[in-house]
Amino acid sequence: MPKKVSSHKYGSLVFNDAVMQERLPKPTYKELKRVIDDNVPLDIDVANEVAHAMKEWAVEHGATHYTHWFQPLNGITSEKHDAFLTPKADGTALLAFSGKELVQGEPDASSFPNGGLRATFEARGYTAWDPTSPAFIKDEVLCIPTAFCSYTGEALDKKTPLLRSMAAVDKQAKRVLALFGKHPRRVVPSVGNEQEYFLIKEEDYAKRMDLVITGRTLFGAAPAKGQELEEHYFGAIRPTVNEFMKELDDELWKLGIPAKTKHNEVAPCQHELAPIFEKANVAIDHNLLTMELMKLIASHHGLTCLQHEKPFEYINGSGKHDNWSLSADGENLLDPGDTPEENLRFLIVLTCIIAAVDRHQDILRAICATCGNDHRLGGHEAPPAIISIFLGDDLGGIVDAIINGKPYQSHQRETMDLGVPALPDFLKDTTDRNRTSPFAFTGNKFEFRMCGSNQNLSDANKVLDTIVAEMFDECYHALKDVAAGGDRHAFKDAAMAWIKQTLTAHQRIIFNGDGYAFEWEAEAERRGLVNCKNTPEAVCRAYENPANVEVFERYGVLSPTEWASRYEVKLEQYAKLINIEANTMVYMARHMYLPALMRYARDIMRTALNSKELLGEASNAELKLARRINDGISRISDATDALEELNARVRATADMKERANACADEVIPAMEALRAPVDEMEALCGRDYWPVPSYNKMLYYV
Ligand code: ADP
Ligand code: MG
Repeated sequence: MPKKVSSHKYGSLVFNDAVMQERLPKPTYKELKRVIDDNVPLDIDVANEVAHAMKEWAVEHGATHYTHWFQPLNGITSEKHDAFLTPKADGTALLAFSGKELVQGEPDASSFPNGGLRATFEARGYTAWDPTSPAFIKDEVLCIPTAFCSYTGEALDKKTPLLRSMAAVDKQAKRVLALFGKHPRRVVPSVGNEQEYFLIKEEDYAKRMDLVITGRTLFGAAPAKGQELEEHYFGAIRPTVNEFMKELDDELWKLGIPAKTKHNEVAPCQHELAPIFEKANVAIDHNLLTMELMKLIASHHGLTCLQHEKPFEYINGSGKHDNWSLSADGENLLDPGDTPEENLRFLIVLTCIIAAVDRHQDILRAICATCGNDHRLGGHEAPPAIISIFLGDDLGGIVDAIINGKPYQSHQRETMDLGVPALPDFLKDTTDRNRTSPFAFTGNKFEFRMCGSNQNLSDANKVLDTIVAEMFDECYHALKDVAAGGDRHAFKDAAMAWIKQTLTAHQRIIFNGDGYAFEWEAEAERRGLVNCKNTPEAVCRAYENPANVEVFERYGVLSPTEWASRYEVKLEQYAKLINIEANTMVYMARHMYLPALMRYARDIMRTALNSKELLGEASNAELKLARRINDGISRISDATDALEELNARVRATADMKERANACADEVIPAMEALRAPVDEMEALCGRDYWPVPSYNKMLYYV
């Protein structure tokens, strides 16, 4: 029987609005709400009262410590626990927590990646409270979501630019809405993510050094069965996994994380969890917490949760779809709406998004480029590495009609005069799904499907918000004069003309066909779309593009210095991870595979000798196998030496761009050259000799 979610449990570990209303004096609560909703600065007296109430509440819920919870550039969350304790002169102690401690922390920043932003002599970093994401209790610690900056105010984290981009899109969207006579208090990006992951047995995981160190298998012969029978997707969930999912839901709900959908994914052992969408920064904090809890709770069930983008060759990898829309005081701007006026507004918003994605496709591609995600993108399982937009037949037809200046005839044979934008209300239900598109309109939101399972979605969302803000800004400037004239007809005509002109300029990004089709790559090239094969290529292209640097600076999201630091960190992370993978392969080959194969060869040869002694001759099978294994040992040994030498040389390359490119062009092929003979030998070697669990064993447990 499924356990019931009792309402008192949902959010019971969150210092949420209900708790604040109950515990804060009315004026304090009102002031804090203004800080949260209107982004006004926080007064220290208010901070003191909030801190006190937060501490009282946290202590009642068993907390002894607090932490500023932040997201440095490695993308994972960081915390440093401080006790509420303040000793007194008389030997007793008080539990105290001040407004200053709530608002600001000072962790040492020197051990986080910073891409040259912070000189080591100035190691101090500051964490600053993000009051728009609620504090919560995790493992007896009050966690306060914070941004993380350097002494000089540069963002050292993923959250700060995200919050800045949210402010930018809020400001620019409101100017466009004002042209329509709409004046919402806030326009907020909403995010709903779908998190894919694998679960395998902890005992198998512990035996795979490659999984433990790099999160993916660097070796492994193909399993007897992959996902070809298509039996796992939405299949019955195995009992152990079900127990895991139930406990996970329970813990997530206590933290106010609206986990909603869970199911098996396409690959064996692969699953997905999707929460209900929330305000972008909260959704991302919640996703990071979810990822952390998944790992922890898996261990309660003898399982290990793998969040790498490609833990296993031969079967699908894991992504994280970023469902994105804009909400104006609760009204979704990506909803076509019911009136011509709303339809026109929808077309404006849609046009801005299409233009933004086309103009900045390189940075959207690059933001999803990581060492792990390189194994997915462009494979026949995940979106292609080329950015394009899927609109579906109906919306695509409307866009075509606008560009060509013809009336639109729907599939239902309704003719629509686009001079008066009245969109058919079937749009929402008829946008069919195209799983091969990296950026798809799905009824009332866009689904960006390129992001990897292990990524912090702040990056992708910071880009989306910023590039769309830029287009809103342009749209506003194009239409503000005619809007000021007050003639609604003239405004509508000018708006339609702007839409037509902008869509025409950017229509190359729209592609409703099969993104996996071979011909698409050639077609995309004809259209002049960006097609970067790997991380260094994508990252160098996008981060060196002045148009990108400029837009992030103009909207106050990243200064050129902050931009350069992200560039550096991205290349550095990539190169370091490849070097670690190569090290791990060399270690495993030398210390695990070669000794195992030598033992096996020795036993075969002993058997052959025995045969010869007792039977007069060794069998063909014995000799053939011994030769093949011996030959494999030589090839593995040579490939190991070659990889080791190359990796050492590349790692010593001082220039980061050169190093990252050498990783992609030289180290990865050398890794593949080592993997091939090892996998070949795995298929020949006796099972009891093989030093690590096989794909067959890991993927098909009960
Ligand atoms: P799928 O069929 O792709 O799994 P779902 O309908 O399950 O699609 O939705 C996937 C995610 O999209 C969920 O997290 C959901 O909350 C989110 N979502 C739905 N509507 C919106 C919206 N307007 N803005 C952002 N995310 C949304
Ligand atoms: Mg989806």
